[in-house]
Amino acid sequence: MIRSLLIVLSVATLVGCLVMMPDSDQQGSQSAPTDVSAPQTAATAVAPAVVVQEIPPVDAIEADSPVVADELSPQPVSPAPEPLIAQAEPSAAPVFAAAPVSAAAPVPAQSVPSDLHQPAVSALCREIGNKLGSVTVADCNNQKLQFADGFSVNERVLTKRDFLPKDLSEPVSRILIMGGIHGDEYSSISIMFKWMNLLASNQDSDFHWRFLPLANPDGLLDGEATRQNANGVDLNRNFPSGDWERTALESWRVTTGSNPRRFPGHSPASEPETQWILQQIEEFKPVVIVSVHAPHALLDFDGPVEAPHKIGHLHLHQLGVYPGSLGNYGGLDLGIPVITLELPSAGIMPSKAEIENMWVDLNNWLNDKAPGLTKAKTTPSSISAD
Ligand SMILES: [Zn+2]
Repeated sequence: MIRSLLIVLSVATLVGCLVMMPDSDQQGSQSAPTDVSAPQTAATAVAPAVVVQEIPPVDAIEADSPVVADELSPQPVSPAPEPLIAQAEPSAAPVFAAAPVSAAAPVPAQSVPSDLHQPAVSALCREIGNKLGSVTVADCNNQKLQFADGFSVNERVLTKRDFLPKDLSEPVSRILIMGGIHGDEYSSISIMFKWMNLLASNQDSDFHWRFLPLANPDGLLDGEATRQNANGVDLNRNFPSGDWERTALESWRVTTGSNPRRFPGHSPASEPETQWILQQIEEFKPVVIVSVHAPHALLDFDGPVEAPHKIGHLHLHQLGVYPGSLGNYGGLDLGIPVITLELPSAGIMPSKAEIENMWVDLNNWLNDKAPGLTKAKTTPSSISAD
């Protein structure tokens, strides 16, 4: 009797071990997301490896001058920026180790219902919240970003948030606004979240806004932040402007000395992030595009209508266009006004008051100046500096 009991116990133990073994093999992936749509791939595994990185100090970021000699000839940086919020970007927090960039879906994105990408969106928020000093994981999650039918080179989801106008009885004008097309311009991403908060608390905009808060997630999140995407391409030189084939690579060689930070790619719109922005423009049909950069403290404008003279403390300083830039493609080729905002610092946010003032000025310009705009019907101007 005892003997048969022992046999039973031994068998049970053996079975238990066999059952457990696969789990223990998977210890390494225990923290992987429960992302049903996106099995991990080698490419995906790259990002978490970034884990604990030395975040460059703000000075280093600026000294590296992401944009000098590029978007602009160096401008007299406008006098003393607003009192700066004491939140330097990025946060010193290490990148969340488990923040798996999940979306390595082997199937075409369109074939998967959008909500299946929510775990990947949450994973992206964990990475963003742990990288930026002014945006927490909760801040990001609260925005309820949506998967927007696109992936970065390293398979991160590309996301959007739409804010519908207060009055849906008529078609209204659509404004496309994006940050982080250059991954090391932290403030351009953080300010997207601040403005989304403003809009969410008002909920009565005249326009249909579409935010693309982070157009180049790999540039921000793959280890030390970079201007370019994961293929080393400057996305703001990769748009298929009419002059791209003729001038982009030549201009890169001659005027930048083949600076890798300004590499326009091997062909126009070669990059998935560029293709995704083009798809957004095509589908959303914005009447105005706003693109936020840093750190040159000015306002640039390309397109057919009268430019705003200032947005907050940023004053108009039209710089012309580069082959493959969004201003060139959107403003000149497509005829959609493109407002380019260059914040004063890539690593330090403008003050709360300045963030609000910029938003008010932007909305006032949209309300008053841009021809062909259609506002929602009930229009008491709802956004105030307060
Ligand atoms: Zn930039």
